Amino acid sequence: MTISSDARVAVVTGASSGIGEATARTLADQGFHVVIGARRLDRLEKIAEEIGGTALELDVTDEDSVDAFAAVLPRVDVLVNNAGGAKGLATVMEADLDDWRWMWETNVLGTLRVTKALLPKLIDSGDGLVVTITSIAALEAYDNGSGYTTAKHAQAVLHRTLRGELLGKPVRLTEIAPGAVETEFSLVRFEGDQEKADKVYEGITPLVAQDIAEIIGFVAARPSHVNLDQIVVRPRDQAGAGRFHRTTT
Ligand code: NDP
Repeated sequence: MTISSDARVAVVTGASSGIGEATARTLADQGFHVVIGARRLDRLEKIAEEIGGTALELDVTDEDSVDAFAAVLPRVDVLVNNAGGAKGLATVMEADLDDWRWMWETNVLGTLRVTKALLPKLIDSGDGLVVTITSIAALEAYDNGSGYTTAKHAQAVLHRTLRGELLGKPVRLTEIAPGAVETEFSLVRFEGDQEKADKVYEGITPLVAQDIAEIIGFVAARPSHVNLDQIVVRPRDQAGAGRFHRTTT
């Protein structure tokens, strides 16, 4: 599918599953031509076909991949920095350096690479929007989560810094910090261990990807003088990173 340069273009990273996929569908419904990027191209191609969008392979940890991705985009009106995730749960004393590298490369430097590459086009659009999916892990620390909480804090500060640096430019910046959303997130965190992943959501009604996608759709539909700076959203059953109300059956 070629990207017509007169359609408004929304780019969603990490759109092969979860929040990114749901967001791509929502923004397509709102009339954007949606360009979706992730490493699993087979999944992306299926989604792109369904939404009349464009699937492009993207590894946010790889500079060349990001450059190639950016080079084929004729214009960018909306960027959703969503690619990211967590690996493992470990104390600082037992931190796995490879897990930390993965989390920092994906969440922090990935967001930096993609944002840096697309900002000129967002500014040129005359009415750009950058939405970054951080987390409540960007707002608080929790035991055994430091690899992820430090990465999400850093990603969030990178995003918030842009709010000042881009003042006077036609680009809005919205940070969305979700609590527990049931996606492939925990499966990735626990290296495919479905039982461990299921435990995270046991006895609670978690958010689903569509809940976040609808918020992003709302943000993108505001008039261009309205900047929603930061949105924190949690399930009713969650009061903080480690504070859940769980029902036992
Ligand atoms: P998923 O695991 O379902 O989705 C993660 C997406 O990121 C996938 O599409 C994956 O695609 C993509 N991704 C991972 N690594 C890369 C990479 N190197 N390059 C490009 N894409 C990549 O989880 P969620 O939908 O839940 O996660 C989306 C975002 O929301 C993440 O930033 C996460 O940290 C954040 N978040 C999630 C919460 C939750 O509870 N689920 C809570 C708060 C924030 P592929 O593997 O095909 O590359």
